[in-house]
Amino acid sequence: MRRVVVVGAGITGLAAAHRLLASTTLPLEVTVLDADDRAGGLIRTSPFAGLDAVDEGADAFLARVPHAMELASELGLGPEIVAPTGAHAAVWRRGLHPIPGDLMMGVPASVRAFAATSLLSPLGKARAALEPFLPATPDNDSIGEYVRARFGDEIHERLVDPLVGSIYAADTDHFSLAAVPQIAALTAERSMLSAARKARRRATATAVSDQVFGVPRRGMGSLIDALGIAITARGGTVRTACAVESIERAAGGYIVHTVGGEVATDAVVLASPARATAPLVRGLDAECADALARWTHAGVVLITLAIPPDQWPAPLTGSGYLVPKPDQRWVTAASFGSNKWAHWRPDDQTMILRVSLGRDGLEVDGFDDAKLLNLCLADLKLHLGRDFTPSAIRISRWPASFPQYRPRHFIEVERIDHALASRAPGVVVAGASYRGIGIPACIQQANAAAARIATHLGT
Ligand SMILES: Cc1cc2nc3c(=O)[nH]c(=O)nc-3n(C[C@H](O)[C@H](O)[C@H](O)COP(=O)(O)OP(=O)(O)OC[C@H]3O[C@@H](n4cnc5c(N)ncnc54)[C@H](O)[C@@H]3O)c2cc1C
Repeated sequence: MRRVVVVGAGITGLAAAHRLLASTTLPLEVTVLDADDRAGGLIRTSPFAGLDAVDEGADAFLARVPHAMELASELGLGPEIVAPTGAHAAVWRRGLHPIPGDLMMGVPASVRAFAATSLLSPLGKARAALEPFLPATPDNDSIGEYVRARFGDEIHERLVDPLVGSIYAADTDHFSLAAVPQIAALTAERSMLSAARKARRRATATAVSDQVFGVPRRGMGSLIDALGIAITARGGTVRTACAVESIERAAGGYIVHTVGGEVATDAVVLASPARATAPLVRGLDAECADALARWTHAGVVLITLAIPPDQWPAPLTGSGYLVPKPDQRWVTAASFGSNKWAHWRPDDQTMILRVSLGRDGLEVDGFDDAKLLNLCLADLKLHLGRDFTPSAIRISRWPASFPQYRPRHFIEVERIDHALASRAPGVVVAGASYRGIGIPACIQQANAAAARIATHLGT
């Protein structure tokens, strides 16, 4: 019997444990340990305003890449996957401006994409139209510096930064370009616009699904529940309220020390966030520990509101809006959940709103609930011109939850992978801190980690 300990029962740790158990032919004992009193990590779904399941964090995964869709199907959730309604999003800048259609993560794929938008000034459009004629931009791993150099400040501040920033809770002037693959791919050519046009065509041609986003009807939490059931059914164990404190080498393997106990194992998947992983690897490789401890994470607060139908402005039929950095006070984005998801509309037509506050450089973690709610409602009044009196309120705090991939992030990840492979064989890192924060990217990393562990164990 070979033994594997997985640290962290978020989507990455659970998917890694499942993949190990599902693909091995040899007897394998897999134990997932999580510090929290529940599995799921940054994924949490709970009832809200009469609906059984409204996500408190992630509410959709990318369906155009295979990893999450395949896992959901494997777990029997395939028929439950629903798509957003197709309602369009906007950018708020002294009013709501529809996001133009022909973009790749905010990068225009044609001049037509921005020629008619009310979001940009005539000068901003003229500057952006020069992009195809500019000489090559020197390599630069800051999204902000690269996109500003290509298209000027307005395209960056009003399109690219809000779109990328809302996914990563980032300030993209300090975020690695290489870490956002859709944008990194556009720097292979001299003109980003021309590369974006080709990339859009390719993305349509190679998509594994016509659907762009998906989620199980009963919320992202059902993916976590299904993984827990599948792991247990194959003989694995998920132990919550069991924080790992350190890992030390032992004859032929490792001892994982937890609060109040220890587990002997042949291999370890570290699927905890970098800041939590740093002290765990200190005894194995102090340089790795130092590097992981240096990485920064941004916190956000997600406020879910139920707005009675008589308060909701009828013309607001879109899926929500993003607020560009220069226009942000506290709210960075608002999702009109009941417009975005057909199954999020309570019988009485109440609107479920999900409002995000905070990002890298805009700290909200220290505010109490009353202050957060006041800031949220004041910003909604500024953006939508309405004083809302919600019939239900839920405040979900996600402190230090978004790893901030600084320029040269991937170089550090490679270094950590190599250092662990040589100094602590059988110990691997995976998850949102490393090679992508989206749920499909976490599952892809989980599958890769499971494959490396299987090779190490010779299973
Ligand atoms: C508000 C919000 C909205 C999001 N929206 C989307 C979205 O719409 N689509 C999308 O694809 N992604 C979205 N994401 C990102 C995505 O949810 C996360 O990147 C992903 O869930 C991270 O999974 P993970 O397993 O890598 O890490 P985590 O979920 O952070 O799991 C790590 C686990 O490790 C545990 N742990 C930490 N330290 C220890 C220790 N010492 N011992 C034992 N256990 C430990 C933690 O308790 C935690 O459970 C969103 C994230 C947030 C916060």
